Amino acid sequence: MLNLKVSVIGSGNWGSAIAKIVAENAAENSDIFETDVRMWVFEELVAGQKLTEIINTQHENVKYLPGIKLPSNVVAVPDLLDAVKDANLLVFNVPHQFLPRICSQLKGKVPSTVRAVSCIKGVEVSGDGITIIADYISQELGIYCGALSGANLAPEVAQEKFSETTIAYKVPDPSDSIDARVVRTLFHRPYFHVNVVGDVAGVSLCGALKNIVALASGFVDGMAWGDNAKAAIIRRGLLEMTKFGREFFPECNASTFTEESCGVADVITSCSGGRNNKLGAAMIKTRRPIFELEEELLKGQKAQGVTTAQEVHEFLERRGKLEDFPLFTAVHDIIFNGLDSYALPQILEDVEQKF
Ligand code: NAD
Ligand code: 13P
Repeated sequence: MLNLKVSVIGSGNWGSAIAKIVAENAAENSDIFETDVRMWVFEELVAGQKLTEIINTQHENVKYLPGIKLPSNVVAVPDLLDAVKDANLLVFNVPHQFLPRICSQLKGKVPSTVRAVSCIKGVEVSGDGITIIADYISQELGIYCGALSGANLAPEVAQEKFSETTIAYKVPDPSDSIDARVVRTLFHRPYFHVNVVGDVAGVSLCGALKNIVALASGFVDGMAWGDNAKAAIIRRGLLEMTKFGREFFPECNASTFTEESCGVADVITSCSGGRNNKLGAAMIKTRRPIFELEEELLKGQKAQGVTTAQEVHEFLERRGKLEDFPLFTAVHDIIFNGLDSYALPQILEDVEQKF
């Protein structure tokens, strides 16, 4: 009996869907996990009532995952330190811009034996340095952290429609009691198939960078350019993602980008039904500022591609590499510098020879 206590940090659209999966598996595997799964909720009032109270009584996150019943062993906790107290396994699942504050609150309070999995799609950029989220968590908290990423639109996963995901988890000590098998047991469901790999950098980068590509595919939708143009953006996006990985994280496997759910499959799904895609399309159609549209259309949910496009641009600019990533650069310039999205074919043609 391992009796592992699991806490999910985050309760948004994906945070709640993942808490549902983890709680289902914790209940079915009482030889490995404690049944109750704590879920840290950034407390807010919904129709005058605390969101944690609503979740713990109605078993539904009415704001961020409406219409989905959460298992009764998901316990919403408003205090971050209470939520992680005595936990053995932490599942990080918040929009990445909120992570630094969360880590600063947890710093020094989490034993080094704790293991973590990040479901966050983003990167941390400071100066000319870039850090994947799993490494950022490891460095801040002094614990091992793997990464989960895949073609996983949260509402579909929450409705138990079939999907696949990729988990990168390679704990340094093979005799660690929280090994890849335990982690797979925590996430794998009949409707949510997990493939475990060792490429933490590749899996993490796929999840972060595909959000920039999804914005570009949204621009294509906004201009009503059709399916051929969408496919071109997907192809060019995947090439830039792979090139970025190879150049700045040489430990990445190219096959993670081309063969795993976190790579090609997530680019396809995100360029069809994702929030970043929706936001990109709305921006082109309305010509309104993207953060204003995010608030209006997503109602508190966050599209990570906008901040990631900014962060990746800042990093590439400092490294003098903007020209080598024309699609990423164009997405940034369309959002922030008034570049005309109709110039995309010209921009991509000019640099075709560089690939
Ligand atoms: P979300 O977009 O639904 O974001 C809302 C969450 O942010 C809420 O829980 C809200 O309480 C919280 N929040 C708001 N202000 C905050 C603050 N100041 N501090 C801390 N938290 C605050 O979140 P999500 O969809 O769960 O996304 C989490 C991660 O999962 C992201 O990196 C996202 O890219 C990734 N992801 C999302 C999906 C999806 O379909 N939603 C799928 C796969 C991966
Ligand atoms: P969006 O954040 O664009 O909705 O993408 C969700 C996702 O990551 C699907 O895998």
